[in-house]
Amino acid sequence: MKYIDLRSDTVSHPTPEMREAMAYAEVGDDVYGDDPTVNALEATAAEMFGKEAALFVASGTMGNLCSVLAHCGRGDEMILGKQAHIFRYEAGGAAAYGGIQPNTLEVERDGTMSLDAIRGAIRQDNIHFPVTKLVCLENTHGGAGGAPVPASYIAQVADIARANGLKLHIDGARIFNAATALNTTVDVLCAEADSVSVCLSKGLCAPVGSVVVGDREFIRRAHRIRKSVGGGMRQAGILAAAGLIALKEMSKRLGEDHANARALAEALAAIPYVHVDMEAVKTNMLFFWLSADAPVDALTLSDVLKDRYNILLRPYVAADRSFRVVTHYWFRPEHVALVANAVRETLSVGSPEMAGD
Ligand SMILES: *Cc1c(COP(=O)(O)O)cnc(C)c1O
Repeated sequence: MKYIDLRSDTVSHPTPEMREAMAYAEVGDDVYGDDPTVNALEATAAEMFGKEAALFVASGTMGNLCSVLAHCGRGDEMILGKQAHIFRYEAGGAAAYGGIQPNTLEVERDGTMSLDAIRGAIRQDNIHFPVTKLVCLENTHGGAGGAPVPASYIAQVADIARANGLKLHIDGARIFNAATALNTTVDVLCAEADSVSVCLSKGLCAPVGSVVVGDREFIRRAHRIRKSVGGGMRQAGILAAAGLIALKEMSKRLGEDHANARALAEALAAIPYVHVDMEAVKTNMLFFWLSADAPVDALTLSDVLKDRYNILLRPYVAADRSFRVVTHYWFRPEHVALVANAVRETLSVGSPEMAGD
């Protein structure tokens, strides 16, 4: 790849093994249930997560949409974080297509919502109120710097949900990062969840796709919803072939990405004008920001890194000079020093030739 791309783990390309598997994948019409590679992917996902069934979907957004629509009817309410991907970054799909009302709670720095706040958000039986049907967690929590949420907390939320007749959905776009950081497995981590949506195309490197897992009845409903939102794909085994490698092989190496994130965080923290939130570096994400007296602003640093060093780093909130950095398979250990040196040089010399234009 021409660039060292740290904007997100979504930028990861498929591996050579994936391209090979895709080229020779056995395929069929998946809307007829005829694609053996899709069927193998779904069976593998269900087994790995210890659930009855799974469904291959086009994206994490589609996985979450099919899940919340399968759990809730129009006018029902779901409890989720204000910082949750489903609430912030999915174009309001649950409201637009499901008429589902979000009841949002503050997310703590560790990716959890207070248990008391969850209890307090559940509606009593009263004709004035919407009916609460669902709690959504996110793991790792992107809005909390990629914090992994432990099984012990999930079990407590599941107890509350069960006691009140609610379902529990986990937006597990990066659930394998969470399992790796917590030194556990996804079946243990998701044991108490009714459904989990898992991205194959982030740190796991597949080009396209997510899987949703849950019980047979839930997957049957999600399957019909997937069809209605245009997610019935035909020879999707081409994509599922990469997904199988993502699940079976790429899920095992995420510790390398976490180590690279930590090494990069440490290298950046040693640079004048750069501040890193070291405590928040738990998985493959890190945040840093430039002090107010830094010789360049966030957008200039981003431009210089791209033009002069072939490094893609996007300001997170340009106004407060912050950056989000995400490591992945294609960011190698030897890139740590390259990136740190580029940031150091840019901040020490500024960008003289840019001063005039
Ligand atoms: C990436 C991501 C998704 C899915 O996003 P897509 O753009 O549809 O791939 C969902 N939830 C979280 C937490 C994510 O990080």
